[in-house]
Amino acid sequence: MGFKYIKEMPSANEIIEMMPLSEEGKKVKAKRDLEIKEIFEGVSDKFILIIGPCSADKEEPVIDYVKRLGGAIQKEVEDRILIIPRIYTNKPRTTGEGYKGMVHQPDANKESNMYEGIKAIRRLHIRAIEETGLSCADEMLYPENYSYLKDLLSYVAIGARSVENQQHRLTISGLDIPSGMKNPTSGDIAVMLNAIRAAQIEHTFIFRGWEVSTPGNPLTHSIMRGYVDQYGRNFPNYHYEDIKHLATIYKERGLTNPGVIIDLNHANSNKRYNEQPRIAYEVMRNRRYDGEIKTLVKGLMIESYIEEGNQAIDGGVYGKSITDPCLGWPASEALVKDIYRRLGE
Ligand code: PEP
Ligand code: MN
Repeated sequence: MGFKYIKEMPSANEIIEMMPLSEEGKKVKAKRDLEIKEIFEGVSDKFILIIGPCSADKEEPVIDYVKRLGGAIQKEVEDRILIIPRIYTNKPRTTGEGYKGMVHQPDANKESNMYEGIKAIRRLHIRAIEETGLSCADEMLYPENYSYLKDLLSYVAIGARSVENQQHRLTISGLDIPSGMKNPTSGDIAVMLNAIRAAQIEHTFIFRGWEVSTPGNPLTHSIMRGYVDQYGRNFPNYHYEDIKHLATIYKERGLTNPGVIIDLNHANSNKRYNEQPRIAYEVMRNRRYDGEIKTLVKGLMIESYIEEGNQAIDGGVYGKSITDPCLGWPASEALVKDIYRRLGE
């Protein structure tokens, strides 16, 4: 066996006991979970913005960023928009190389340390809730690690590279928070809808050393992120026809709580981060034009940080992405306000 056993990890309950969320924080999260659930159930027509850096690389700039979202702007838009910050602490890598997120490397320029990493990502999500009143979204890259954050997250995404994986699908079936299944990198919408079906029904399987059963998660929905074809060409899937087609398949399949979040970056913008506002406005226009699209599109996912663009992992610029390029804060603030205004039209 090639495995070297470095350190036995504490159980999720041990870590949670060591680093608990405050009573006030628990109330904040419970209230937000209910509000978010009602949006995916179609009870509330607020619009969701899942917004934040591609990767949460460092505690201070991420908390600084989330505080900006939780400040005046949130108050200004809260009657039409529900903001869920992206605090993505696990990063899938196309070839498995490079920075894998704070959970691996609490300091992006140092060696991997998973024990410190788990404490670092818990601290980050706790601080976000306690200091800004916003519970956040993360990607569930490793199903068995979800338990370390199970009392903190209000939304999880299953990434384009994981959506076909049975363990991810089955784990989501046991969650009671909204979970977005991304279309796979190759763009086959059927894969995403199969994942949603799998996560919406009950299962029995092995999870963290236990035989478990799950009830199915009716809040599982789609995320459209664009795709790449067999020749490596990039294609968007946020246009009118793409969403109408999705609506049709949703009807044929009879899935619970049809819904989609449009990811403005990744293959939808071809990582041209400055295109995100234009894509947002197109989606907003289609929602206004077509009632079916309006009900189906529950919100947008935006890659945004303090400084625009991205930098090398050791670039050292405060609040600038070390993974995918992001909108900077001034453009992001303007975008949130503009989306708010357009929702009122
Ligand atoms: C991301 O959200 O940063 C991401 C890696 O997305 P995807 O799985 O769509 O590539
Ligand atoms: Mn990204």
